Amino acid sequence: MSDAENPAAAAPARRPTIRARIERIHDHAADTRSLWLRTIAHGMPRFAPGMFISIAIPLAEGARVRPYSIASSPEDGEPFEICFNRVPHGAGVAWLFARGVGDTIEFTGPFGAFTLDRTPEAETIFVAEGTGVAPIRPMARRALSDAGGPPIHLLYAADRADHLLYRDEFERLARTHPRFRFEPKIIAADALWAEVSGEVQARWLDADAKRNRNFYLCGVGKGVLDLRDRLRAGGYERRAVRYEQW
Ligand SMILES: Cc1cc2nc3c(=O)[nH]c(=O)nc-3n(C[C@H](O)[C@H](O)[C@H](O)COP(=O)(O)OP(=O)(O)OC[C@H]3O[C@@H](n4cnc5c(N)ncnc54)[C@H](O)[C@@H]3O)c2cc1C
Repeated sequence: MSDAENPAAAAPARRPTIRARIERIHDHAADTRSLWLRTIAHGMPRFAPGMFISIAIPLAEGARVRPYSIASSPEDGEPFEICFNRVPHGAGVAWLFARGVGDTIEFTGPFGAFTLDRTPEAETIFVAEGTGVAPIRPMARRALSDAGGPPIHLLYAADRADHLLYRDEFERLARTHPRFRFEPKIIAADALWAEVSGEVQARWLDADAKRNRNFYLCGVGKGVLDLRDRLRAGGYERRAVRYEQW
């Protein structure tokens, strides 16, 4: 994950620390939560769809910093939203789950190069898994912000129905924008990336020789990198296959 395109850990130390108060909490599922954060004093710096903030997490065994994508759009203003899920032995995210409305957190950022700032000119395929849809959600909204444009796909997989986040919103977008195709899928966790990659292979590698599409991939683990490599090896340009691996 130390790819220059994916500089998650590369939060420059000289950026100011921003304090924010938790204004609202929503549980999507027992292990998946959104927080809405309003900055205190500073104001939220400008950011592009897809960026993340680096949250300072003061644990007894030592402070850590963890990146969380901004799940809302820049035009939504404040409070802005992050969403996250519990992770086995994940002490950092457990600390985040223990915060309540009115508590403050500290972060730096926003940061990141996994962004989509302008409406794309070419067909664009977003592929996300679970909370990996967090950076993709504002990107998809931005991609659809012009009345016309190329087809936009969101292939969105999770291991359970309640881990498919923002489903109503994506379905509404698909009804409003005929060029937007939303494809939610429930796939067992251990088969998820293999199945998703097989689907991508069949539709956007094997079915034709067109190689002018853009891909944005986000999720946990090696499956993201395998799909990235498969697309690049199949003829897509390096810069046309953007990804963020958690
Ligand atoms: C650029 C970037 C943006 C991120 N944005 C988000 C976000 O919006 N929401 C979010 O939930 N997480 C996000 N993450 C992951 C997050 O930063 C933490 O890694 C995660 O919350 C676990 O942290 P931890 O300190 O509790 O556990 P750690 O001990 O640091 O992590 C334990 C393991 O969990 C894996 N892991 C990381 N994230 C997840 C996940 N979501 N589900 C299952 N396994 C995971 C890691 O690969 C690692 O192997 C992002 C990561 C990166 C690099």
